[in-house]
Amino acid sequence: MTVKTKITLFIVGAGLVSSLLFSVVVFYELLEQPFKLLDTVLKEEAYRTASMILKRQSTSEAASLETVDNMVHAYWIEIYEQGTNKILYQSDLAKRVKLPPVKPHSRTIARAVISRGQIKPDRDRSQKSTFRIRSVPIELDGRSLVVKIARTMEKLEDEIWELVFGIAAGLIFSTLALIVISRFMAGKILQPIGRMKDLAQDISEKNLGQRIPHGDGRDEFSDLARTINRMLDRLQCSFVKQRDFLFDTSHELKTPLTTMRLTVDEICTSDGKNLPPFVRDNLLRLNNQVLRMERLVKDLLNLSSLETLTGIDPKPVQVTELLSSLAGEYKFLADAQNIKMDIRLPMRLVTQGDREKLHRAFSNILDNAIKYNFDGGQIELTGDQSAAELTVTIANTGPGVAEAEIPRVYDQFYRVEKSRSIQNGGSGLGLAIVKRIVELHNGKISFESKQETWTRVTVSLPLSRDTVLA
Ligand code: ATP
Ligand code: MG
Repeated sequence: MTVKTKITLFIVGAGLVSSLLFSVVVFYELLEQPFKLLDTVLKEEAYRTASMILKRQSTSEAASLETVDNMVHAYWIEIYEQGTNKILYQSDLAKRVKLPPVKPHSRTIARAVISRGQIKPDRDRSQKSTFRIRSVPIELDGRSLVVKIARTMEKLEDEIWELVFGIAAGLIFSTLALIVISRFMAGKILQPIGRMKDLAQDISEKNLGQRIPHGDGRDEFSDLARTINRMLDRLQCSFVKQRDFLFDTSHELKTPLTTMRLTVDEICTSDGKNLPPFVRDNLLRLNNQVLRMERLVKDLLNLSSLETLTGIDPKPVQVTELLSSLAGEYKFLADAQNIKMDIRLPMRLVTQGDREKLHRAFSNILDNAIKYNFDGGQIELTGDQSAAELTVTIANTGPGVAEAEIPRVYDQFYRVEKSRSIQNGGSGLGLAIVKRIVELHNGKISFESKQETWTRVTVSLPLSRDTVLA
């Protein structure tokens, strides 16, 4: 689950709990009012009915019992005489429906079976109905009465349901609004983290100089950005130190190695004939190793100077001419292994770049195509130019590289088959150099291979408008 979702859920959960509590309080507050009103109406009705009943008993022209019944039609009323418990009056509803006893001065809610037709003629199904009951002691004309009065809460129940639905709808809408707002807020809060992630993804050894912008804020995200930046400072520093160390060491090794090679050369040429065969053999082996080390040191120097470069000074390069002359240089080596070279290049392949570096890159690829080939194998050198880019493909037969190993061929000192590479004098820096040169030209390199069959290296270099016109 993402942090954004977690924050959203947390805010929505907290908001929902507080809205629920608020709704419960509001619900009970709102519920109290209609009950108070109903209780007042019941009390007034109790007084009115009690006085009517007493008046009827004392005067002859008072309302008939039937008229009283009609007037209190909607009420459940029983009037007792306190002490004797003699029933003075029972409304129509009270005769049919039994309600539980209620203590004087108290009020309660009870459910009873009632035919709805008794209250509303359009509904005559018998069903349970809820009553609000009050017991009202009344002193009238020196007589102590108790009026037990009740009324169905049908209307009130409808109102309560309306209130519940209103609150539920409000809760649903507020939750939806909360989800939208909290998601937006979570996105805003996490924006700096997103920026840090993007930058961290971009940072590689090529652009260790990038830093996360943090401003002067003293919040946690600014602190985190400052901490990451300090870590990047330390990383960059040790990276530069390491690169300088490699460059300095290679540079320091160059001169003694050349001196060693020249000395061995001199011994072999001047005293070669007088030397015992085993000494001459050892000197030749030493010479080979020194030559190999010299090449390695040269490649290391090349690579570390390429690593420090951030760009090139582009000049028009005649790629057809460059590749043709390279193929000529390697023809001798290819012939030695009976490798057939098939060169198909358009007349005028031109790009903007650094000729010397491109020469080094294509030379390394061609060198591999010959080194890692079968005796009597084949090399295909083709070129193509579209409006946007120039593509050079060098394909060769040979043992190839397993699919799993392909991503690693650009790693420094990586050799697929160490024994084969050492036998070929390889140190595993060639393709790392090629890749860096292609990157400096803003180009792309792809390495495809089928084991024991073929290998194809494709270099694509982007063309600027000027290059196409050149
Ligand atoms: P260096 O180029 O420094 O002399 P290298 O040739 O061993 O040494 P890379 O050119 O970097 O190093 O190549 C890395 C590895 O990729 C090689 O060791 C080889 O196993 C494999 N490889 C490269 N090019 C080819 C190719 N054309 N055919 C088959 N394998 C290849
Ligand atoms: Mg190589």
